[in-house]
Amino acid sequence: MPGLERRLKSEGVGEVHFDRFARGRYATDASHYQIMPVGVVAPRTIDEANRAIAIARDEGVSVLPRGGGTSQCGQTVNHSLAIDCSKYLNRILELDAAGRRCVVEPGIVLDDLNRALKPHGLWFPVDISTSSRATLGGMTGNNSCGARSLRFGNTRENVLSMDALLANGETAHFGPVSADLSDIPSSSPLRDIARDLLTIGAREADEIAARFPKVQRRVGGYNLDALVPGRNDLNLAHILIGSEGTLGFSTRIELKLSPVLGRRAVGVCHFGKFFEAMDAAQYLVKLKPIAVELVDRTMIELAHEIAMFRPTLEQFVRGTPDAVLLVEFGEDDQDENLRRLKQLHETMGDLGFSWDRPGAKWGGVVDVLDPALQAAITDVRTSGLNIMMSMKEEGKPVSFVEDCAVPLEHLADYTDKLTRVFEKHGTRGTWYAHASVGCLHVRPILNLRQEKDVKAMRAIAEEAFAMVRAYKGSHSGEHGDGIVRSEFHGFMFGDKLVRAFAEVKDRFDPKGLFNPGKIVRAPKFDDRMNFRFAPGYRGIELTTELDWSAWPGTGGGFQGAVEMCNNNGACRKMQGGVMCPSYRVTRDEKDVTRGRANTLRLAVTGQLGPDALTSDAMAETLQLCVSCKACRRECPTGVDMARMKIEVLAARAKAFGLSLHQRLVGYLPRYAPYAARMPWLLNLRDKLPGAAKLSEAVTGFTARRSLPKWRSDIFDERKVDTPPRLRGRDGEGTLPPPAALRASTSPACGGGEEKEVVLFADTFNRYFEREVIDDAIRVLEAGGYCVHLAKPRDRSSRPLCCGRTFLSVGCVSEARQEAERTLRALEPYIARGVPVVGLEPSCILGFRDEIPAIIGTSLARRLSELALTFEEFLAREQKAGTLRLPLGPIGQKVLIHGHCHQKSFDAFSAVATVVKLVPDVAMEIIESSCCGMAGSFGYGKDTIDMSLAMGELSLLPAVRAAPADAVIVADGTSCRHQIHDGAGRKAVHVAQLLARSLGARPLS
Ligand SMILES: Cc1cc2nc3c(=O)[nH]c(=O)nc-3n(C[C@H](O)[C@H](O)[C@H](O)COP(=O)(O)OP(=O)(O)OC[C@H]3O[C@@H](n4cnc5c(N)ncnc54)[C@H](O)[C@@H]3O)c2cc1C
Ligand code: SF4
Ligand code: SF4
Repeated sequence: MPGLERRLKSEGVGEVHFDRFARGRYATDASHYQIMPVGVVAPRTIDEANRAIAIARDEGVSVLPRGGGTSQCGQTVNHSLAIDCSKYLNRILELDAAGRRCVVEPGIVLDDLNRALKPHGLWFPVDISTSSRATLGGMTGNNSCGARSLRFGNTRENVLSMDALLANGETAHFGPVSADLSDIPSSSPLRDIARDLLTIGAREADEIAARFPKVQRRVGGYNLDALVPGRNDLNLAHILIGSEGTLGFSTRIELKLSPVLGRRAVGVCHFGKFFEAMDAAQYLVKLKPIAVELVDRTMIELAHEIAMFRPTLEQFVRGTPDAVLLVEFGEDDQDENLRRLKQLHETMGDLGFSWDRPGAKWGGVVDVLDPALQAAITDVRTSGLNIMMSMKEEGKPVSFVEDCAVPLEHLADYTDKLTRVFEKHGTRGTWYAHASVGCLHVRPILNLRQEKDVKAMRAIAEEAFAMVRAYKGSHSGEHGDGIVRSEFHGFMFGDKLVRAFAEVKDRFDPKGLFNPGKIVRAPKFDDRMNFRFAPGYRGIELTTELDWSAWPGTGGGFQGAVEMCNNNGACRKMQGGVMCPSYRVTRDEKDVTRGRANTLRLAVTGQLGPDALTSDAMAETLQLCVSCKACRRECPTGVDMARMKIEVLAARAKAFGLSLHQRLVGYLPRYAPYAARMPWLLNLRDKLPGAAKLSEAVTGFTARRSLPKWRSDIFDERKVDTPPRLRGRDGEGTLPPPAALRASTSPACGGGEEKEVVLFADTFNRYFEREVIDDAIRVLEAGGYCVHLAKPRDRSSRPLCCGRTFLSVGCVSEARQEAERTLRALEPYIARGVPVVGLEPSCILGFRDEIPAIIGTSLARRLSELALTFEEFLAREQKAGTLRLPLGPIGQKVLIHGHCHQKSFDAFSAVATVVKLVPDVAMEIIESSCCGMAGSFGYGKDTIDMSLAMGELSLLPAVRAAPADAVIVADGTSCRHQIHDGAGRKAVHVAQLLARSLGARPLS
């Protein structure tokens, strides 16, 4: 489309992308479909969006409006020009708190909106599971429904009006109007359309009454029910809501807001049989809860396997129920909630449930009144899909019958029969979600690469929808129509209404400008040509460096690992956790885990042309990935982009070699011993005027930061007989030099009652901040531990190294050599099961993560079990009741910033545990994402701006706001440098804090 591309680029419509990589990132939503868009535009203003759409119309190209792209039914993929509203069109245009209304642009994300509304005591109450990335444009597009829809209704009930750009280029206001339409201005382009719509509504009123299901959860088709005569709430916005971008492009959305929920009471109803739970739902809703959510046994069992959910389950699950219903009461008056909770107990008793009454059905209610536990339970519930999607095999839970809704009196029957349908087709599904409105989520497991499973999908869909029709339910109860449901509208609504839907579409959009082929004139839902795994889809042959054997596919499983991304978009959240720091700065699909995973998937399946994996476009896609490993933990399906990046870097290193910058980063452990012999020379770079600028041009290290200072008094375990002076701190000499530096570093170590520990001295602390190592030894020795300092077992005097710097530039074989050398040195300790403790999180945790993935030996695996961060070791000892540290108060507040890898490996809480060992300490955790320094990332001349911007997201402002005498604890070398450079504050390792607490002197 050269004409289209040229015009879009020259006529100023925002960011325009037509390359295959960018288009590929917009070819999927959270469904199983994949359709390449023609191009992508991210307009900066609504005007730009309107202009882009006008150009597309002129050029005869259709348009696909897009928000977060989290739809599950294929409504957000098309052979169109994709208009990404989420990047820039995300402003709140008006807020009338007193009138409880606001006006927003379509790209604003629900959580962002609710954060802005919270200080006013308000929220938009359609609380969908994807609230962290779903946009209001997408929610209105799909008529999205929240868990509390029983109380608040769907999106449709909470939108007051909308403005939309129509296919003819005019903008119209859709809102409440009188039945005779007299209040629509004569100049409005909507006047004629509205008249025609009402004619259709009147003509089809009987059919609508007969064929539209009477359940609350009906989002299928166009909302013709809004147009029938006799309604006193005629609102033309209702025809746009749920229209999936097929009628117009929404530009302003006026929302009805509600007061935020106060205290609530939750009763967790337990059932011994799933059928009993389903049958009970109809009686429980009579108590008027605001939500009744189902979690079944499979989900409970799966969640129990996940460390972060287990403690929550232990608090609210009693025995081994087949299903639980989470019944939530949320009236303004908590006494009323408690009264209803009591009634819930009575109702369950009346239904014959008792924990221990002889002859009763096993079951009962567990009360949950603690708001923190209530929130934790919601977390488990809303993670339901994610818990299931983490399965690694080729067959995956597939969404196509997953939000059918049936009247509550049929729920038990329906779920029972559908389970049998699954069994008949050799599959199974796990049930969860909105029992209150008869809309349960279930995804049978199918492998859509196989024709037989695609056939099973059709058979299941047809049988399921036939059942739903018989129950007078809705086949499209939450996630919309897209490609999955539209084909079945004729079966569910009848041909007459389908013709009326087509009439509505044609009245708005006769030439098919907006998202064609959705709701009306849709393709077959099982047309494999539209599938992500289309016929012929296969991985290219490729050699990989890390162990991917847990996944299927080529590259030793690399293909299966990248295919784990199901596009649910959790990596697009802007707050909470760490993932994904680069997206939080750029808001660009290229810079989010999902965009990277999609690009990799297309590359390793040959869809981006030859050599895509080693291409510059791929390097650009991964450039801002700081390898924070947050996705490894926070991505619901465990997409581990930091590891994947190593493969790409390795492939590029093989193809093109390393740049000087990469060499200087990667080979640091090899040249550091020489540099430490002439620190004055290397430090000239930051002393001589102009030297930094010159070095920037040659080495790629930014001149805007000083580099870590070289020194000659590095930490050197070989000099055990001549203890080095402990420099640079107040009170030097008042503490004895660590015994480990004076005495034994042999495996025998002292003997007697002492507990052994090996301290791994990493390259960064060894050469630049040896005080951290000294203090760690002091603390360990003060605790009575015998500290070993492992020495190389070869002839080289070069210190040991974990290989981290090599991995960061893709030199996997060098990293392997380093790690193998360290393994040999640690072997005697590993054999005795001595804990291996490290100070730099990225180094010591590498022993748990990458090292076993590049060295598949039992020794490497054993080390991964023994490797602990310093604070993890102490916290473990504390828990075992064996830690004896003579700590004194320090009299200063402590703020803690967690290293991303600590967070990724659940090792962060240990920092707080050990800080709390300091008597009377006042401690605060900084809610931070990645510090932005991320090893060498912050030193790159091309990445410094991004690095600082990441720091500014949360860490640096929090440090600046900290009291001047507060101690900032940051265990990562890079984090400490970022804090120094960005906020002018010195941060310390927790070992340094504890060492001071041993001496009970304030930290300077
Ligand atoms: C794990 C998971 C859980 C989910 N849970 C829920 C849930 O609890 N409840 C629920 O209802 N849904 C849920 N969904 C579905 C989906 O997240 C929601 O429908 C969400 O509202 C879609 O928002 P989005 O911004 O991603 O929209 P997109 O997918 O980007 O777009 C949705 C539709 O709106 C149209 N659209 C977008 N912007 C505009 C615009 N400016 N003008 C006109 N049309 C536009 C698009 O063309 C598309 O047809 C879930 C999905 C996933 C993956
Ligand atoms: S990378 Fe993970 S979190 Fe992001 S969309 Fe893919 S599966 Fe979801
Ligand atoms: S490793 Fe960090 S920066 Fe990279 S994709 Fe994952 S979350 Fe984003």
